[in-house]
Amino acid sequence: MALEPGLYVAATPIGNLKDVTFRVIETLKEADLILCEDTRQTAKLCAAYGIKTPRAPYHEHNAEKARPAILARLENGERVCLVSDAGTPLISDPGYKLVREARDRGVRVTPLPGASALIAALSASGAPTDRFLFLGFPPAKAGARRAFFEAAARIEATLVFYESAARLAESLAAMAQALGDRRAAVARELTKLHEEIAEDRLPALAARYAETPPKGEIVVVVHPPEPAAPAEAGDVEAFLRRALGEMSVKDAAAAAADALGVARKEAYAAALKVKEEIS
Ligand code: SAM
Repeated sequence: MALEPGLYVAATPIGNLKDVTFRVIETLKEADLILCEDTRQTAKLCAAYGIKTPRAPYHEHNAEKARPAILARLENGERVCLVSDAGTPLISDPGYKLVREARDRGVRVTPLPGASALIAALSASGAPTDRFLFLGFPPAKAGARRAFFEAAARIEATLVFYESAARLAESLAAMAQALGDRRAAVARELTKLHEEIAEDRLPALAARYAETPPKGEIVVVVHPPEPAAPAEAGDVEAFLRRALGEMSVKDAAAAAADALGVARKEAYAAALKVKEEIS
């Protein structure tokens, strides 16, 4: 069946060239044009599967300039495939504005699903997958990175990050500081010869990669915060005794509820009792 006009967002392998779907190969062969993040990179895939379709670059440095002509071709009924160097386009890769503007013009946009490093890492990490948040690359500068992980600490879900080998150790150390002693997995070189998934607590992983700097491409998967053990009555009382030295009954009860995970009503009743005892 002839390929319909439109934009095709095609996932390509994240390492092993066998990880490509039949549909992606067929579509790349039949399309009028393949837009590549790097034409030399996509040339390897095309050579492996006998794909002779013309290729043109579409990356962050030429996207603004190239987009109008691409959109004109799409509106003219051509079949254009968008690929990135590895994995799914738009996922920490170029393509968002092209898809957005193609859809705004009524061009049909079709996903051709396949590999993505974040899903590959998550699926084999051992972390819970019912609720997860992909946060892309953490900021490179220490201050911004600290704030980024501190904001992430409040999220009750598995967290997934991309990180470069050069920054892995310092990023893991910052995660350990902000997220605490959580379980995590460092998934490296997935689907390639030196594939490795290292699982441990964040501080141990930070120490390991500080000592032996890693090579290759990396995804970090961090388990959600572990539910705190229920606070004992004695813990609540001790907390309140300290807090009531500095704050009102209402504030001390709120602080105890937040810090120890007890119900606000319960914390308030306990705070009143402690207040009476100490005054
Ligand atoms: N669009 C891609 C996807 O769907 O996964 C991601 C592109 S992003 C620019 C590249 C980052 O993805 C790498 O720096 C690394 O964090 C991660 N990555 C890509 N391939 C990987 C692999 N084989 N193993 C581990 N991480 C990988």
